Amino acid sequence: YMDEEISISGFYETDLISNSLNQMLLRMKNLEKSRQEFVSNVSHELKTPLTSVKVLADSLLMQENVAPELYREFLVDIAEEIERESKIINDLLSLVKLDKTASDMNISSTNINDLLESVLKRLRPIAKKRNIELVFESFRPVVAEVDEVKLSLAISNLIENAIKYNVEDGWVRVSLNADHKYFYVKVADSGIGIPEDAQDFIFDRFYRVDKARSRGTGGTGLGLSITKNAIHMHKGAIKVYSKENEGTTFTVRVPLNYIA
Ligand code: ADP
Repeated sequence: YMDEEISISGFYETDLISNSLNQMLLRMKNLEKSRQEFVSNVSHELKTPLTSVKVLADSLLMQENVAPELYREFLVDIAEEIERESKIINDLLSLVKLDKTASDMNISSTNINDLLESVLKRLRPIAKKRNIELVFESFRPVVAEVDEVKLSLAISNLIENAIKYNVEDGWVRVSLNADHKYFYVKVADSGIGIPEDAQDFIFDRFYRVDKARSRGTGGTGLGLSITKNAIHMHKGAIKVYSKENEGTTFTVRVPLNYIA
């Protein structure tokens, strides 16, 4: 009877160990898979504008006596592709910087009202160009321990998207609130919305709801993954609520005191 007890508990232990080993292996395999996917996505995204530039340049070189207007037209396209390439590179650099550990956090006591005001000030001309009303509503003054650069980047991306994926004469509302533990930033828009089946993927790197559509608006598909990383580095959370053709609201929750 005693022997049986021992052998049973022994059996359970080896089972536990092999289970957690299997889990670890699976996690490593998944990590490796997502790393490979990332690298192949990066290569693809970086190659696309270059391929276009090459095609445009080659087709000019192949013709003799090209009309000056045609040169101009092609050069405009080439400049656009270069612009796109540099956007992708910039976003990738932000992402790589954020991928480092928490020791890279540059935390200081920050007036969040001022931080948001200055992000809004920078984006106001872009909203104006699209005739979009951009309003800021603050329910209380908030001071919190944050990495100013990372938080500004995170919120900027949300507001830029709210402007980009909006309708003519639409609106974007940014609001700030807090309780004793967290502050909350809400970015709501009157835009095109996100289909329900896409909402799970929008935070993935390079994911775009409509590649053709986002290409026209110059997206890289990296903005929201940068935002999510930056918020998570603050031990915060981000959520999306959206309805197609009605609008989208992102809510961000960040602890007032930084937890390392
Ligand atoms: P992008 O560079 O394409 O804007 P993001 O990572 O910032 O990439 O966003 C991913 C996708 O999520 C976008 O391509 C867009 O389809 C969708 N999206 C993000 N924000 C909004 C929004 N406020 N309204 C509608 N769609 C949005």
